[in-house]
Amino acid sequence: LSPVPPDIVVSQSVKLLPIHELAKKVGLLPDEYELHGDRRGKIKLDAYERRKDKRDGKYVLVTGINPTPLGEGKTTTTVGLTQSLGAHFNKKVFACLRCPSRGPTFGIKGGAAGGGYSQVIPMDVFNLDLPDIDAVALANNLCSAAIDTRMFHEATQSDSALFRRLCPGNDFSKSMLKRLEKLGIFKKNPSDLTKDEISQFARLDIDPDTIQWKRAVDVNDRFLREVIVGVSSTEKGLQRTTGFDIAVASEVMVVLALATSLQDLRERMGKIVIGRNKKSLPVTTEDLGVAGAMSVLTKEVLKPNLMQTLEHTPVLIHAGPFANIAHGNSSIIADKIALKLVGEDGYVVTEAGFGADCGGEKFFNIKCRNSGLVPNCCVIVATVRALKVHAGLPLKECKKKNVEAVKAGCGNLVQHIENIKKFGVPVVVCINKFDTDAKEEVDVIIEKAMEGGAYAAVPSEHFAKGGEGAKELSKAVMKACETKSNFKFLYDLDLPIKRKIEIIAKEIYRADKVEYSEKTSSDIENFEKNGFGKLPICIAKTQYSFSHDPKLLGTPKGFTLPIREVRASIGAGFIFPICGKISTMPGLPTRPAYYDVDIDEKGEIVGLF
Ligand code: ADP
Ligand code: MG
Repeated sequence: LSPVPPDIVVSQSVKLLPIHELAKKVGLLPDEYELHGDRRGKIKLDAYERRKDKRDGKYVLVTGINPTPLGEGKTTTTVGLTQSLGAHFNKKVFACLRCPSRGPTFGIKGGAAGGGYSQVIPMDVFNLDLPDIDAVALANNLCSAAIDTRMFHEATQSDSALFRRLCPGNDFSKSMLKRLEKLGIFKKNPSDLTKDEISQFARLDIDPDTIQWKRAVDVNDRFLREVIVGVSSTEKGLQRTTGFDIAVASEVMVVLALATSLQDLRERMGKIVIGRNKKSLPVTTEDLGVAGAMSVLTKEVLKPNLMQTLEHTPVLIHAGPFANIAHGNSSIIADKIALKLVGEDGYVVTEAGFGADCGGEKFFNIKCRNSGLVPNCCVIVATVRALKVHAGLPLKECKKKNVEAVKAGCGNLVQHIENIKKFGVPVVVCINKFDTDAKEEVDVIIEKAMEGGAYAAVPSEHFAKGGEGAKELSKAVMKACETKSNFKFLYDLDLPIKRKIEIIAKEIYRADKVEYSEKTSSDIENFEKNGFGKLPICIAKTQYSFSHDPKLLGTPKGFTLPIREVRASIGAGFIFPICGKISTMPGLPTRPAYYDVDIDEKGEIVGLF
């Protein structure tokens, strides 16, 4: 239909393929998946194990230029491209996406299931009913409770009383044995411990001022950014100031996304550093004895969610880490399973959040490094409107034809093309077409992209026409995947932390130099001293600019990248420097999206977009 009806109307207009039929179509055996209602399923990890020795399909990343606040259509393109490859070229194909946070769904952005005739359906299930984020929040909050409870008991009991209660039957739990080993105390029997060893073992001595772990909830609730806990008289005055993050910003979410197996998940979960003790040594979730239970709470959601597109091609939706303070990519497990299921003639299209300088760079340097997977092609999504914004036009003037502005804004796209080519991966530029785009505007993008080193550049109409509209894009991607991959990482893990940060800042953002406060420099030294120096870097910054400043559009040059703070996510396995102001708990506008969401007389959801 033209004009394209609202997303929820399109979503509800298509009859679903029953999930067991979809599972059969993608080659899953009956014992390799679970049905969760009739609209989504879950794939068991055995499905990978059994196909371990099969060859992988082609691995395609979808990323984008620096977007406007409206989003430029990476998810829509990921879905449209797979609809096209699957339903119009008869290829085995999977789309892999992140679980959407309900914060933005009810805030400004609305749903994240794609748009128009390129969507994951049912979009209400996709946006509201996937279990991953809730499980992550629960595990996160169990850890928060463990921290405050432990500090409470340590503050109110003697060494011997603490010890007696920790080991009542005179036996150590598995995590306690790990802690003894870490302390260098090799005694199997609690009664053999000396007084001094008992004190060392029983007291974590967490320094409350160093606790970085926060509570988590999947709502844009700005009033939780800073809270005082322990106000009740039962907590005996042990108040402290802490806060909440949106659940997708939790380190547990990153652990879920980067885990390569259940065992790997368990190990990462135990390595999470929640703060330091009074001797400035890291305190972990394993020390707290909570890592095993956190793993149990997330075990079920380690299985990717199976859903479908409007054209009944399969989609795996899994994990959903924030794209700024986390790496912003869907899970390794989902990509790995999908690559085996499609086999060597098939395709897996996976999306990285934010721009190619954020989620894209982290896809290569963090996700691929952890998975060992090698991408065959990278699609950069660009829009006429965003390029006009990069040329300095206000967003509301972007519907008017202005070829000169588009041309002037193309520098942003070209810089992303040059950056991706540094990873040795061919770039296909997809111009995600809006009905207001003029042909000359699209043509000038194609010309500039090709001059800038793209392998191909094509307009695509998947929003208005579904897979049919992405045929040119499909052909370009299939051809690009045939070229020999020269994939390489941008930096070596053995380099010092500051050097790694500098490489990203100069090569990707094009900063002149990096500036550190005294505190960040000493924190970096501390990380290196504690053995965390060899981790990759996950820079938290705005998605709107190559720089740290959302107002510097286009191709900012000659700037200094200020590192305000640096933290370590040891379970996730990266160091994350923070540039500029990064909110880990978004707020709501005056008219949030929830105003329009309701249930009609027939019980159908309306107003979700
Ligand atoms: P991203 O994944 O890059 O954030 P999305 O694919 O979620 O972007 O798209 C952002 C919004 O723009 C969605 O509401 C989507 O429906 C809409 N959109 C995307 N492409 C088009 C298009 N070609 N025409 C009109 N609206 C579009
Ligand atoms: Mg998206």
